[in-house]
Amino acid sequence: MGILQTVRCRTAESAGKLSKHVIKFGSGMGKSYPGHLFLRLGSLNCVNYLARKLGIGSIIITGTNGKTTSTKIIILLLAKDADITFNYESNTINAIVTGLLTSKVDLGVFEYGIRDIQNGIPDTVSKIVDPVGVVYTNISREHSQVSGRENPFEEYLKAKQLLSTPMKRGVVICNADDPRTTYIGKNKEQDTKVTYYGLDIDLEDKTPLTGDVFCPLCGGNLVYSKRYLNHRGIYECSECGFNRPEPDIKLVNLSLEKEKWSVGLMGEIYNYPTGKNVKIDFQVQVPAFGVHNLYNLLCAVTTYVSFTPQPMNIEKTIIDTCNALDLSILPPGRFEIFSSGDKWIGMGQGDNGDALKANIQFMMSYFGDELEGNTVFIYTTPDEGEDEIFEDHLISLISLNPRMVHVVPGRESVTAAENYYNILKESLTADFYPLSYEDMDKRIDKIQELVNESSYKYIIVSGCGPEEYMWGNLKSRCKSHEKGS
Ligand SMILES: [Zn+2]
Repeated sequence: MGILQTVRCRTAESAGKLSKHVIKFGSGMGKSYPGHLFLRLGSLNCVNYLARKLGIGSIIITGTNGKTTSTKIIILLLAKDADITFNYESNTINAIVTGLLTSKVDLGVFEYGIRDIQNGIPDTVSKIVDPVGVVYTNISREHSQVSGRENPFEEYLKAKQLLSTPMKRGVVICNADDPRTTYIGKNKEQDTKVTYYGLDIDLEDKTPLTGDVFCPLCGGNLVYSKRYLNHRGIYECSECGFNRPEPDIKLVNLSLEKEKWSVGLMGEIYNYPTGKNVKIDFQVQVPAFGVHNLYNLLCAVTTYVSFTPQPMNIEKTIIDTCNALDLSILPPGRFEIFSSGDKWIGMGQGDNGDALKANIQFMMSYFGDELEGNTVFIYTTPDEGEDEIFEDHLISLISLNPRMVHVVPGRESVTAAENYYNILKESLTADFYPLSYEDMDKRIDKIQELVNESSYKYIIVSGCGPEEYMWGNLKSRCKSHEKGS
């Protein structure tokens, strides 16, 4: 790097750090503005200058579901053994750079959401941040349109893959049970270390797959001998033989109690800072938070074991962190089960096919066959252009077969909601409430009224909707009603 370039980077660094200090106590801006300012004064190459200051390097977490929860648990674990800087719930290079604007630390831990290639710059981010770890949670169908453009699944997968494509060192961490992240891992094995994590438990997803899952290698049909959560399970391609690799680290011996779950962590994986393999084999207690969060936990543990500079602490750090975990680590829209009088209510965000299905599965792990014939579903719809999300939702709803479905728009378009309702009512008994997005309070009032007046024992409220504004408010209102009644 030339002297002028260095001066430019240093100036940008000082200005960025200063702005981070100044707006530290302000609102949301602190998450990305300093990075924005840095990039305006410096250049993309200057990010590389910042990134090189980290003792060990940066870890970037991406995927469709579970990014934020996995990132938060990774932060809790690594912060016990190392000096770290981090950012979560962020989707831009600005947010990552804001995290890098810090005094000397060992590791940077950054969540990075990528919807498509046009709106994100995954390969550029990877080149300039030069991560030592890229972590994949899972890849599912999400938004079939982004900013009015078609976003086919193949391109979405490609965008995710690009984040690790430039890596020549470090560790790529993949979910072995997800054929898409395994595909990315298999393609990286000749360049760098790849670590696979997966489940080895008795729990099985008995509800049908939302849509066929095709082999990412040859396009053939994938056949599952066991499914843990929708397309995550033990699979093999009937045409080319592409199959689920044996996980290097896995969850075993799961036992479910109403309040706490107990699960074993077992495996031997590569630790990047020491260059040595580390073995783990012990049991932990976690909140009863659903299979999808078991994946988030395993993803976080795998990342922690791969990057802690103090492998001798692993068992104690993981056990202590799990003991202290509670549901507040999960996002405000998280699906929760609570009782009201003699009714049971399961309520929370399920804004893509996979997420809504996980909610139904969570409810089933509590109440099993009792749900049949005794359940009403209040369904908040996706938006215009989100047909694929609706298709996935519909498959899950039909397999649950609730006695009644109340359809309420979840996003902006009421017309789209009505169209989805018209399709849904061909298969299920349903009614529709055309409430506008602008008057969110009315929507929340109506949903609350439907919950209170329902004569069914089990009520599930899920689908699309703004995280805090809708789900956060709705849950706190229904819970305070429960306390008041
Ligand atoms: Zn194949």
